[in-house]
Amino acid sequence: MPKTIYLDNAATTAVRPEVLDAMMPFLTEWYGNPSSVHEFGALCNVACDKARAQVAKVIGADPKDVYFTSGGTESDNWALKSAVLAKKEKGKHIITTKIEHHAVMETCEFLERQGCEVTYLDVDADGLIDLGALKDAIRPDTIMISVMYANNEIGTVQPIREIGEIARSRGILFHTDAVQAFGHIPIDVDKDNIDLMSASGHKIHGPKGVGFLYMRKGVKLPPFMHGGHHERGRRAGTLNVPGIVGIGKAAEVAEREMPDNIKRVSGLRDMLIEGLLREVPYSKLNGHPTKRLPGNVNISFRYVEGESLLMLVDEKGVSASTGSACASGSLDPSHVLLAIGLPHEIAHGSLRFSLSEENTKEEMEYTVKVVKEVVERLRSMSPLYEDMLNGVA
Ligand SMILES: *Cc1c(COP(=O)(O)O)cnc(C)c1O
Repeated sequence: MPKTIYLDNAATTAVRPEVLDAMMPFLTEWYGNPSSVHEFGALCNVACDKARAQVAKVIGADPKDVYFTSGGTESDNWALKSAVLAKKEKGKHIITTKIEHHAVMETCEFLERQGCEVTYLDVDADGLIDLGALKDAIRPDTIMISVMYANNEIGTVQPIREIGEIARSRGILFHTDAVQAFGHIPIDVDKDNIDLMSASGHKIHGPKGVGFLYMRKGVKLPPFMHGGHHERGRRAGTLNVPGIVGIGKAAEVAEREMPDNIKRVSGLRDMLIEGLLREVPYSKLNGHPTKRLPGNVNISFRYVEGESLLMLVDEKGVSASTGSACASGSLDPSHVLLAIGLPHEIAHGSLRFSLSEENTKEEMEYTVKVVKEVVERLRSMSPLYEDMLNGVA
């Protein structure tokens, strides 16, 4: 059996050696606090500013509009909760979607309990929102539109530029959770009309526990974390210097390799999709066929139970996922798969394979073979499958 094949890059990625190399000195020799005036502090300050420029460049932003945080979750919380505080004169209505990551979804649910009103837009069978429905949902008291750039479970990429245009023309803040898109597909905060954008280090081969919120100049959201005057008074807390240096390096590498990686990874993706759909009967691709992340494969296998499938392919050395890492462990089917209209039992029989540029063709072939075997084995034990074959179901 080959070594474990890691196909869960949407949950987290391996830190690249060059990222670790860039971080190491800031854990060992240059352990200063960037707020200190001495040389240790100054060195660290310079390193953080370099990282700020590195991540800003990937999204066409002014480095001054980048605020480092502890990750995607904090950035999402900051954008939503602080928008509510900042715009309380205007209203308390937020528009988002039914397929957001839990970091946005649960924050919206929290805000509803605080008296906000939230519209959760439907998506179509491919996972796309409808721009007409978005326009119809806008009210005089709408303060924010928050739509994820690309979905972490099914990979669908939303028409962000058009959404941003609608938001801008109506004077509404536009936030996007771009954690799955940043460093993977091109983003331009100006052309995409983005006011606020969340990103994370560990989804792009950087370290965990670091991310940033892009906040367009003039969009003055109050701080979410209070304390010291770090990050120009907007985000308190001693800067995570090694983490920040790490996300900066990871962003630089991601930008440099993006065209090659998109080609390579989407090639592997299409190979895996075609192989699985061809070799495994009663299987179906979830998410948009073309408007999807280069590394995302999400397939429903009828008449099998996803958790069993996941465990058995894991035993054969393939690490995949049944959906969002944050939801696994719970027995509820994925809210994303339900939102695209899958019935509960089919949503339960779905697997996500998320690839990176480190994967190979051989790994895709092996994965198809293993999934085929395991699905056959599970179906051979399934009374439902037997009924279906006998024409009963
Ligand atoms: C992983 C992820 C997050 C959370 O980011 P963390 O840095 O792990 O807090 C938020 N949104 C999406 C779409 C994600 O994939």
